[in-house]
Amino acid sequence: MNLILLGAPGAGKGTQAKFIVEKYGIPQISTGDMLREAVAKGTELGKKAKEFMSQGKLVPDEIVIGIVKERLRQKDCEGGFILDGFPRTIAQAEALDRIMAEMGRKIDAVINISVPEEEIVRRIVNRRICRKCGAIYHLIYDPPKRPGICDKCGGELYQRDDDREEVVRQRFAVYRKSTQPLIDYYRKRGVLYEVDGTKDIVSVKSEILSILEKLKG
Ligand code: ADP
Ligand code: ADP
Ligand code: ZN
Repeated sequence: MNLILLGAPGAGKGTQAKFIVEKYGIPQISTGDMLREAVAKGTELGKKAKEFMSQGKLVPDEIVIGIVKERLRQKDCEGGFILDGFPRTIAQAEALDRIMAEMGRKIDAVINISVPEEEIVRRIVNRRICRKCGAIYHLIYDPPKRPGICDKCGGELYQRDDDREEVVRQRFAVYRKSTQPLIDYYRKRGVLYEVDGTKDIVSVKSEILSILEKLKG
């Protein structure tokens, strides 16, 4: 299965992607995670991406398209993949179509997780992430058992520096302008599935799993 998770920042893409990875054994391709890793390591890519990310702007299309293209060619993507946070612009979606065509593959489903802005802000400012294993927590909706410590691996939990309210509002505005048009783009192709992202984590998960089970047929 070749899947895309679409949705505003904080809609729950990463959280749900992790369930899909566990259940179907396909890799999660998160451009946000890849870019943050590059920033942390101080690579050339990281140096280019840093400014855009800290201001809540999109990293230029050609940079992001390049890293996704390279990633999709790796062996672990042969049995399918789940894209999280890509595409985010029409230009990225068109590039993805070309990459898929070159590889003789296609996108099977695009799952749009919709959540309104006020709830997005509540989710993101309380998001915490494990530095070691990347597990995602929420201080209110999905707290760790011990404050500041990952349940899964004992790693330290941290807050992303772009997860502050003013940057979140900026990211949401970017989402509305550049990413929301992708909903129509994929609807027209008949591959769009809509999920109500305001429900709790477990309900959203079962909605997504039921879509994927039908897809598998
Ligand atoms: P995204 O990858 O779309 O940016 P995340 O999966 O990181 O979103 O989720 C954003 C925050 O909201 C996290 O703190 C996560 O624990 C929390 N969260 C995710 N899904 C839900 C949900 N259905 N209800 C409440 N909180 C959620
Ligand atoms: P969230 O889902 O919370 O918005 P991500 O981890 O997906 O966070 O993205 C964090 C930042 O990384 C974005 O604000 C943007 O600067 C950059 N980024 C991630 N994916 C893309 C992409 N596909 N195109 C451009 N920039 C991206
Ligand atoms: Zn952890």
